[in-house]
Amino acid sequence: MQNNDLNLLKELRLKLTPQRLAIIEYLKGNKNHPSAEEIYNALKDRFPSMSFATVYNTLEVLVEKGLIKELSIDSSKKRFDPYTHPHHHFICKACGKIVDVEASFEIFIPESLRDFQVEDFQVVFTGVCPECKKE
Ligand code: ZN
Ligand code: MN
Repeated sequence: MQNNDLNLLKELRLKLTPQRLAIIEYLKGNKNHPSAEEIYNALKDRFPSMSFATVYNTLEVLVEKGLIKELSIDSSKKRFDPYTHPHHHFICKACGKIVDVEASFEIFIPESLRDFQVEDFQVVFTGVCPECKKE
């Protein structure tokens, strides 16, 4: 998400309820790749009437509008990333932490995909993070 968020959101005709703005604020600059549950838990005290469905639906809309990315590398739950530029990830199999990997990998589109329109690829490293390794 960029600085001109508000203008962009207006252009996209997103209804800017306080709850939606809070979700967007929470995600902005957030490098933890939170799940919908985490976002809901972080905001529910401020918005006691907000339901989990509201959080989930807002995230779906933001993904659909291309403002955030949905990550499916955690098999237990979807995770969300406000950084939409091409980058890669490491996921810790012990604690579930997802860390950005800012590197470019030279990938050649295999011959078997020649008739496909390839739009994206992602390198996912899996293993154990330094904190979990200590234990
Ligand atoms: Zn870990
Ligand atoms: Mn990321």
